[in-house]
Amino acid sequence: MSLNYLNIHSLMKKYGIHPKKSLGQNFLVEPAGLSKVINAAELTAEDQVLEIGAGLGSLTYLLAQVAKRVTTVEIDRAMLPPLREALSEFPNVRVIEGDILKQNIDELVEDQDYVVVANIPYYISSAIIRHLMEASVRPRRVVLTVQKEVAERILARDGKMSLLSLSVQVFGEVSLGGVIPAGSFLPAPDVDSAVLKIELYPEPIIPLELHDAFFRIAQAGFSQKRKTLRNSLSAGLHLPTDQVEALLQESQIENTRRAETLSLSEWHRLTRSYLAN
Ligand code: SAH
Repeated sequence: MSLNYLNIHSLMKKYGIHPKKSLGQNFLVEPAGLSKVINAAELTAEDQVLEIGAGLGSLTYLLAQVAKRVTTVEIDRAMLPPLREALSEFPNVRVIEGDILKQNIDELVEDQDYVVVANIPYYISSAIIRHLMEASVRPRRVVLTVQKEVAERILARDGKMSLLSLSVQVFGEVSLGGVIPAGSFLPAPDVDSAVLKIELYPEPIIPLELHDAFFRIAQAGFSQKRKTLRNSLSAGLHLPTDQVEALLQESQIENTRRAETLSLSEWHRLTRSYLAN
């Protein structure tokens, strides 16, 4: 299907919009970059989309052409008049003014299956991912533009895991939907972006009821990255080293491993042993 693109420059001019750095306003204007996001979302005419951060609607306008229904949340009131004008031809779009972190996701999507698409400010990507994963109705797929290096950290595997990569990979399979050069945005940010795609599992790899303990243990493990697990867990969980050694042994993990080398199934075993003791 050939898509029509919005003219963001003329909307900005007509409404006297000056992008706000404090809200991470970098509008995606290059069709090549916009197409990477839309393609990664793999939408059909049956899909419901939740968009985060509509801005002037450059993505919303495309989403409206391919999806059944689009709900978009935008925090900045100044965006709403141009946004409403840009989207007036689409009865399938609903614009909600507000902070995504304060929205009840389940209500927004009316408990229906949905895909999230967002070109969001870098400083809230982690908080937004957490907010979405903790919703009781989780999305089927999440497509986010994030700083390229953040995408690389989330995509990391064996030996290079972090609290961030664990907290995403526990919920779904992550992949890269392409790189978007900084110059594709208006204004251009300092670094290139990447399209990150998260295909959610029906259930997280580590069951939700264990997440409090799992994240507490993982946080302890990563809090002193260069230390062995025996030492970092002992300090972070306030446990004597012999007790930590016993836990690690029970979980079949060597004392001298470091947090970044553990797989999700090893964290799962460790969490279960911790809770059983
Ligand atoms: N999707 C548009 C805009 C990207 S800029 C595009 O691709 O061009 C990011 C947008 O997110 C800005 O419009 C900003 O105002 C909005 N935003 C920032 N924090 C937000 C929050 N907490 N909740 C909802 N929207 C937010």
